[in-house]
Amino acid sequence: MLSKLNPPKRLLYGPGPSMVEPRVYDAMSKPIVGHLDPFFFEITQAVKQGLNAAFGTANEFTVAMSATGSGGMETAVANFVEPGSKFLVFAAGFFADRLSEMGRRHGATVVRIEKPWGETWTAAEAREAILREKPNTVAYVAAETSTGVWTDGKAICDAAHEAGALVIADCVTALGSMPIDLDKTGIDIAYSCTQKGMGCPPGLSPFTVSPRALEWVTKERKSQTPTWYLDVKLLAEYFGGAKRYHHTAPITMFYALHEGLRIIADEGLEKRFARHRANRNAFVAAMEAMGVEMHVADGHRLWNLMTPRVPAGVSDTAVRTHLMEKYGIEILGGFGPLAGQVFRIGIMGVLATEKDTLYLIERFQEALEASGFKAKGNGKGAAEASYQGALAAV
Ligand SMILES: *Cc1c(COP(=O)(O)O)cnc(C)c1O
Repeated sequence: MLSKLNPPKRLLYGPGPSMVEPRVYDAMSKPIVGHLDPFFFEITQAVKQGLNAAFGTANEFTVAMSATGSGGMETAVANFVEPGSKFLVFAAGFFADRLSEMGRRHGATVVRIEKPWGETWTAAEAREAILREKPNTVAYVAAETSTGVWTDGKAICDAAHEAGALVIADCVTALGSMPIDLDKTGIDIAYSCTQKGMGCPPGLSPFTVSPRALEWVTKERKSQTPTWYLDVKLLAEYFGGAKRYHHTAPITMFYALHEGLRIIADEGLEKRFARHRANRNAFVAAMEAMGVEMHVADGHRLWNLMTPRVPAGVSDTAVRTHLMEKYGIEILGGFGPLAGQVFRIGIMGVLATEKDTLYLIERFQEALEASGFKAKGNGKGAAEASYQGALAAV
């Protein structure tokens, strides 16, 4: 009944998962060791160092949770938002809504500072909201994958610390593709995933906690963390000091992340980030040449996830079907208030090269034109010129 596994060939240019690096697949075929084997803890130690570099932190507590990004999110909320406390969420997208919902389920009073999907807050707005509400914990989504917006957390963290609050930052899509600068920004708790900017399969959630926040959860938190599996104190005993059994970590996924981080180190973080930004700039140049509007204003766009608007008269499902049926290309549409209004296109992981970006731009223009769009000019040509400009600027 069970036929041999034969997955279809896809080119994953969506918001995640992204394509997996061949070297990562290779690492995943290595024999596993036990979850208390000294070799496993060598791996977790190396993974911690690699993750700290990517997050831009010197945190002592940096682990990979045996969970996807949402598990990292719930770990952050379960440990750092107490029942009955005030939880302020900067909300302008789907993942901020998920954070709010988790806060509600964990018994917090959730206060939402809202903006339309596709916008972010000025430093003054963020500061005013935090100093007015005086929350215990603040959360924001650094890279909001539902809209394509980057929120710089500096003003949020400064005001939150002035008010005595801890800051949770969702860095799920950003990690490995753009700088997070965790320590410089002042973020206390951050989480991510393996399947977006890291070029690995889904399955682990990089998770980091500042010394200040660790102190709070171990000494100052009044009630016990309500979930056993996600309890940071128990995880610290497994990954940190005592190396005491907590759960059986997915060893193979740790091999994957270890190799993903090695690939990043081989290239160098700065070069990797610059490569993603150059792709983003080329993509935007192509959209401008074609006459396709970007949903997010210049200066607030992510480096690895773009949200061009669906041109008037064009069906987003027809465009996506054309790409999938003809080329096996996956891109996604918008959802919630952006349903039918934007495309969500990820250029990250294996496909974050100049060649693959140009390939996508050409196919995307073709798919739009097949759905009746009259492009103003040639997208690929403008993208090529953008790359040349990027080179000239070096
Ligand atoms: C993908 C994503 C998540 C959830 O991660 P999963 O791995 O799908 O559980 C959370 N926040 C943001 C911003 C994301 O892009």
